[in-house]
Amino acid sequence: MVLIASFWSTQSSSAKIPALPVEPLVTPTDPSASVETLPDTLAESRSDTRTQHHEVQPGDTLSSIFSRHGAPTSDLYKIMETDVEYLALETLQPGTQLRLTFDNQDRFTELALVLDSARTVFYTRTDDDQFEYRRMEADTHWVSEVLRGSIEGSFYVSAVKAGLTAHQIASVNQLLEHRLNFRRDLRAGDQFAVIISHEMTDDQSTGKTRVEAVSLKRGSRTHTAFRFEDGNYYDQNGKSVLPAFRRWPTQTSYRVSSHFNPRRKHPVTGRISPHNGVDLATPIGTPIFSTGDGIVQRVGNHPFAGKYIDIDHGNAYKTRYLHLHKILVKKGQSIQRGERIALSGNTGRSTGPHLHFELHVNGRPVNPLKADIPTAADIPSEHAKAFKEDASYKLAVMERAGSRSNLMLAGARVSFD
Ligand SMILES: [Zn+2]
Repeated sequence: MVLIASFWSTQSSSAKIPALPVEPLVTPTDPSASVETLPDTLAESRSDTRTQHHEVQPGDTLSSIFSRHGAPTSDLYKIMETDVEYLALETLQPGTQLRLTFDNQDRFTELALVLDSARTVFYTRTDDDQFEYRRMEADTHWVSEVLRGSIEGSFYVSAVKAGLTAHQIASVNQLLEHRLNFRRDLRAGDQFAVIISHEMTDDQSTGKTRVEAVSLKRGSRTHTAFRFEDGNYYDQNGKSVLPAFRRWPTQTSYRVSSHFNPRRKHPVTGRISPHNGVDLATPIGTPIFSTGDGIVQRVGNHPFAGKYIDIDHGNAYKTRYLHLHKILVKKGQSIQRGERIALSGNTGRSTGPHLHFELHVNGRPVNPLKADIPTAADIPSEHAKAFKEDASYKLAVMERAGSRSNLMLAGARVSFD
């Protein structure tokens, strides 16, 4: 008999690893922004402004939305110029919520884009008639559940039956594919269990989920992976399960023509205008390689970023490659570390041939040439004890959870009797 004592969350107990903090990205030039935490009330609270809500419909474009609401195209152009370091507006799809705000002279002053229930980004007119980017994040926490199943047919079909989404199945695949062959090695009746965390604001899901732990029993062997606070995954002995990342997306290193700099001052306006990646002085046609295993999340062509690729490396890591000459991969394609994905170029607004390369960890850009990247090393020894305790606890949860009901766990440890 298994008793579930209410809830368990990834942030609550000492042996547990706290979720990495998600802080709002606010531009330092706007001191008031750091105290605003409720994205929804910003525009409406000013009585002298008017806010138009727009839900993106199939066939909408940003220019059609702007003209429909009477906002100038020249402002849209400036906003896209600001967005080149974020590409947040590239995520628009039917159902996305936008808000356009106008002042009492009916002048367009702000575009808000709701990314999910916890995150909104704003493009706000500045005194010198440019648009400044701000991002606001509500506090979130993670709530976990255990999903279990046994192999009947393919792993994919069995995992869907157990309640996993396609994205979660891809993550599980990535975590264990270097230990076993999902097509060949699994037999009917092999057991698996996965702990999935859901990101929540106070009252609702943001739609983000992540794999906390996975265990797959194949014959007498059990393959496992557990997420650690560094965003990497280790087996129950603390050995890394993911292959290392490459540091450079090129065959050799190139001169850095512009460094990563979250505090960069714009040469003309003097305002803070972050550089969220590094610029490598690659001649046009230089082969570009994915720095890790992953799935192509987006390919696009942006007026300022040029031809670009986003790669999701599963869970915490993402890379981005801009100003490409030629893209050699398709959206949704699965790629290996070191696979050729593009030829570098000079597309979009660019002062000369180069590759702009970004690395994001937990949704935030970091210096790709300096950041800690998975190196296929073991868990740091000072964390080994806590990690192993946590791993055996999660393993017990996965093994003991009832197979019928999927158990929501958060807030406190599960207790057994
Ligand atoms: Zn750049």
